[in-house]
Amino acid sequence: MSEERVGFFTDTSVCIGCKACEVACKEWNAIPEDGLSLTAMSYDNTEALGASTWRHVAFIEQPKPEGRTQLPLADGESGSDVRWLMSSDVCKHCTHAACLDVCPTGSLFRTEFGTVVVQEDICNGCGYCVPACPYGVIEQRPRDGRAFKCTMCYDRLGAGQEPACAKACPTESIQFGPLDELRERAALRVDQLHDAGVPGAQLYGHDPDDGVGGDGAFFLLLDEPEVYGLPPDPVVTTRDLPAMWKHAGAAALSLLGGVAVSFALAGRGRR
Ligand code: SF4
Ligand code: SF4
Repeated sequence: MSEERVGFFTDTSVCIGCKACEVACKEWNAIPEDGLSLTAMSYDNTEALGASTWRHVAFIEQPKPEGRTQLPLADGESGSDVRWLMSSDVCKHCTHAACLDVCPTGSLFRTEFGTVVVQEDICNGCGYCVPACPYGVIEQRPRDGRAFKCTMCYDRLGAGQEPACAKACPTESIQFGPLDELRERAALRVDQLHDAGVPGAQLYGHDPDDGVGGDGAFFLLLDEPEVYGLPPDPVVTTRDLPAMWKHAGAAALSLLGGVAVSFALAGRGRR
């Protein structure tokens, strides 16, 4: 990695659900439309991240939690018993990225910025990366089978620009920059929210000691990760591969040894 590692800090406490990030991502990366259907379940008609949705703004409607204070801005606004949680999800650009570990063609690679990028002209459509991702981010496009996901606007980073989603976000819910700086900023923001009476504020994906070595794209959430459809304890799915190869190697060696002994005994019997 020749450059400083960069990333996203998505502060969901200031997301207003405008979806400017989704639109900017689609426009900049020329991503095809992925169905203009209405789910009739929520205001969220994009539903999930996918081959043609590299940013997805989740709209979560939930009863106001008892004993917990709302964000000061939302207090007393409507007298409603429900609250909205909005969060712009994206590829986590994991420190230990299983998608990258299993890719046989080198289509997925780690960039000089520490991000994880998939190259559409090298992907052969094998799909190994899809079940390997612990977050369910990467997906094959049904029309041609190749895998696609967020590149953190690799072309823009190369030109010294920030990713399109961060540039378009009107509330600075999506912040881009050197990862260490973002982690410091995020810790201060959590303290600020706790002091303001929002005890549910918590960081997700910021910890380099978690099961994926920390994410290059991490979040400030206002409730538990499961509420946002995020796994509470993600683990790099290729974690056990070295041990599995060691066991497979030992089994193959003992099999070969057994075959050799059988041949030797059979040869001695014929003499
Ligand atoms: S979130 Fe999934 S697709 Fe993104 S880098 Fe991690 S393993 Fe790969
Ligand atoms: S652009 Fe910013 S405020 Fe609008 S939905 Fe995306 S993250 Fe939220």
